[in-house]
Amino acid sequence: MTSQRTRDRLIERLREKGIRNEDVLRVMQTMPRHLFVDEALSHRAYEDSALPIGQGQTISQPFIVARMTEILLSRGVPDKVLEVGTGSGYQAAILSRLVPQVLSVERIAPLLNQARDRFYKLGLGNISLKHSDGSWGWPQHAPYPAIMVTAAPEDVPKSLLDQLAPGGMMIIPVGSQSGVQKLLQITRQTTADGDEFVRTELDPVRFVPLLGSIRK
Ligand code: SAM
Repeated sequence: MTSQRTRDRLIERLREKGIRNEDVLRVMQTMPRHLFVDEALSHRAYEDSALPIGQGQTISQPFIVARMTEILLSRGVPDKVLEVGTGSGYQAAILSRLVPQVLSVERIAPLLNQARDRFYKLGLGNISLKHSDGSWGWPQHAPYPAIMVTAAPEDVPKSLLDQLAPGGMMIIPVGSQSGVQKLLQITRQTTADGDEFVRTELDPVRFVPLLGSIRK
C-alpha cells in the first residue's frame, strides 16, 4: 500500500485535479508520505485525503499541499519560506526539496519533536524549527519572500503581514471553523504611497484553527 505504484496513482490524481508544476509533482512522487503518519494509517498515506496525526491535528490533503506549493512557487523560487503549522512535517519536507531554506513554527511540542526526527532520518538539513505561536511569525529571520500558513485564523495576523518582504507572497486559509474558509493569496506590493497588500481569493478549504498559546 506504500509502493511506488500507489504513489504514482496519487500523482496521476493530482494531475487530473489540475496540478501542473512538474517540480512539485516530482517531489511529491518521491516523498514517503507514509513516514509522516502513524504506522497504523500508513496504508492510507497515498489517498488524496487529510489524515489524523494525533493531538487533534491533521496532515493536510495531498491536493492542498500541491496546490499551495504550486501557487507559492508561481512567481519563481523564493530563497526561503516561513511555514506556520509544522504538524507532521510533510508540507515542510516537500518545500525543503524545492526551496533553499524552510523555517517552520509549531505550537504543539510533541508534533514538533516528531517532525524533527523525521527530517533527521530523511536527511532534510535545510529546515529550521521553532516551538512558538506562529501568529507572531519568526521575526529573527524576517522579511520572508514567501509565507505559507497551514491552520486557519479568522483574520490574517498582522505580524505575518509585517514580516512579508516587498514583492513577497503569503498563502493562508482564513475563516471560522463553523463557516466557510477561503484560501487567500496575499502579495505585498510597493507603490508610491507605500506598501499595499493585494488579496486574491482562491479555493474554499477546511483547515484546523490557528490557535494562540503553545502546548508542551
Ligand atoms: N503542515 C502540516 C503538515 O504538513 O502536516 C499540516 C498542518 S495541520 C493542518 C495545522 C498545524 O498548525 C497543527 O499542527 C497545529 O498544531 C498548528 N498550529 C495551529 N495554530 C498554530 C499556531 N498559532 N502556531 C503554530 N502552529 C499552529
